[in-house]
Amino acid sequence: MSVFSSRAFDGHEQVVFGHDPDTGLKAVIAIHSTVLGPGVGGCRMWAYDDEAAAVTDALRLSRGMTYKNAMAGLAFGGAKAVILGDARRDKTPAMMRAFGRVVDRLAGRYITAEDVGIGTEDMAQVRRQTTHVLGLADTSGDPSPFTALGVFLGIKAALDHGKAGASAATDSLAGVTVAVQGLGHVGADLARRLHEAGAKLVVADIHQDAAARVARLTGARIADPATIHAEPVDVYAPCALGGVLNDRTIPELSARIIAGAANNQLAEPRHARELADRGILYAPDYVINAGGVINIAVEHDAAGYDAGRATARVHGISETMARIFAEATASGRTTAEVADAMAEARIAAHAASRDASAA
Ligand code: NAD
Repeated sequence: MSVFSSRAFDGHEQVVFGHDPDTGLKAVIAIHSTVLGPGVGGCRMWAYDDEAAAVTDALRLSRGMTYKNAMAGLAFGGAKAVILGDARRDKTPAMMRAFGRVVDRLAGRYITAEDVGIGTEDMAQVRRQTTHVLGLADTSGDPSPFTALGVFLGIKAALDHGKAGASAATDSLAGVTVAVQGLGHVGADLARRLHEAGAKLVVADIHQDAAARVARLTGARIADPATIHAEPVDVYAPCALGGVLNDRTIPELSARIIAGAANNQLAEPRHARELADRGILYAPDYVINAGGVINIAVEHDAAGYDAGRATARVHGISETMARIFAEATASGRTTAEVADAMAEARIAAHAASRDASAA
């Protein structure tokens, strides 16, 4: 496989392959940018089809973290780790400690946290080997409820977009139907919030027990995971894995709003234009799903972590989303283009002031 010349590489600063023969650890840590600060991004464990798929995922997710952290106004660069394997079958505490040693060798250039397949108990094992961990149970804890809150606020901002005098309009989601795809840490909590706000739900997960649990709690209708994107709903919230907005799914969408937690929802950048041309409002994934990293960043406050401060900052996602939607509508650019430009402007301004002070 090619790495440097692959499209996903996109100017990465560093890519590290971590291996531990005793525990079977095979990990890839991709550090895309440390311009704004240390590269911060979660660690995902997934049974990839092959090693090339794992590297590509790490690179794409890492780049996404650079943009996410920049848009969220954090003093963090972008990075991400992936561990190759099935989290339900292959993961062991010793493997997570081996991963911690790989992280530690990067001496703070990469700070890890949880992502798909990895929980706070795994991060506790990592913490035994390195201090470069955020989101532990005894600090800011599971970031997922904050991610879910941000997605919930982003959905409301999308529903408000274009409505006259909408500022206080969307407290109730009565009459709104939302399809939630993926009912893990984020999707299940998002479904709860949407249900409490009065929305009707359609849900799906590849694990039937997860879908049944959410349906019991929220009265949701359970759909087929293979076709939930095509359900006749107002909002489609992808909360499983990436690549769900592609040549096959986009023509089948009936939702007018796409707003969910999954990273890298667009299979390719051009799919943002296809959505816009169909009149579908897309909430850029790395903006709407930044609640978790905004929460863990509060651990770096001089005063220490505080959940109230974290919640207040996550509420900033509403305003950022509204700005992106308004600029996209006014300029004819896609919401993804507007978000990318905002993030790149912040990184460029920071690099310029750093270079000026170094001169
Ligand atoms: P999770 O592992 O807890 O949940 C993912 C769920 O999706 C699982 O229940 C899984 O069975 C299900 N799933 C997988 N493939 C599916 C498919 N094809 N159809 C339906 N369901 C499927 O992960 P999570 O922490 O809830 O994260 C969900 C998404 O949000 C991921 O893309 C993650 O990168 C992103 N994200 C999470 C956070 C966070 O704070 N946890 C923050 C930002 C972004």
